Amino acid sequence: MHQLGDIEISRVVESERPFVDVFGFIPDAQMEVIEANRDWLMPRFIDPESMMIILNIQSYILKTRNQTILVDACVGNHKDRPGRPMFHQLNTPYLSELEAAGVRPEEIDIVLCTHLHVDHVGWNTQLVDGRWVPTFPNAKYVFARKEHDFWEQRQKDGTEGPVPNVYDDSVLPVVEAGQAVLVASDHELDHGISLEPAPGHTPGNIVLNLSSGNEDAVLTGDVIHHPLQLVRPEWSSRACEDRIQSAKTRRALVERYADTDTLIAPAHFASPTMGHIISRDDGFGFRMLGDT
Ligand SMILES: [Zn+2]
Repeated sequence: MHQLGDIEISRVVESERPFVDVFGFIPDAQMEVIEANRDWLMPRFIDPESMMIILNIQSYILKTRNQTILVDACVGNHKDRPGRPMFHQLNTPYLSELEAAGVRPEEIDIVLCTHLHVDHVGWNTQLVDGRWVPTFPNAKYVFARKEHDFWEQRQKDGTEGPVPNVYDDSVLPVVEAGQAVLVASDHELDHGISLEPAPGHTPGNIVLNLSSGNEDAVLTGDVIHHPLQLVRPEWSSRACEDRIQSAKTRRALVERYADTDTLIAPAHFASPTMGHIISRDDGFGFRMLGDT
């Protein structure tokens, strides 16, 4: 748990392990750049044996004075993801982990998805008596309208992108239950908690800015998937819808926050995940909270 002014930030991890080959996921990645940054990238963020990147799929829980907010809903259980073995028919103790973190599903007031990819919307719903129903019965599910409309339209058109569309089982049931709230991409969620557009990874992708007391943080979602992208912000991932725009957004964010006190809370960095962007001789790096 990390206290940011009046906001309590904690994480609930669904899975964390070497997921995918670094060169497969980040097509521009170069071995000599990885080697030059080996001292901080390995073994924490890249497994040196397999050259797989270590990713963490997790939710952030934000407790403010009035609300409990869950940011990004991981992959979820029992979902059919043919062609994606790493996400197919999972059965993880995520809800038990959530309760262990002191939160029961009915206590979540807001669910916010930074974007509507398979690993950010899964626990929006769960399977009950053969139907997908909202996991968090009392929550408003806040989606950037632009992002929601993109995936809804793609579902109608049957268009394929780099990442499978999971709108039908993980977003539509929430809309049909009347729990979805579509907002502008700069919406203020709570006092000191605001969305900001960060397009590229997906068209309606957002980051979440937190400000409380004298402290600032930004939940960066998938603008930066992996710390290697701090070394070369122009290296977009295969999961990006628009790799060029994604690189522009990433570089702007990295330059804005490098060497500042703003806490960076990425979606997928290995535990303990949160830290600060720092300049290095060659690109940028990351200083985890708790590291010296
Ligand atoms: Zn993701």
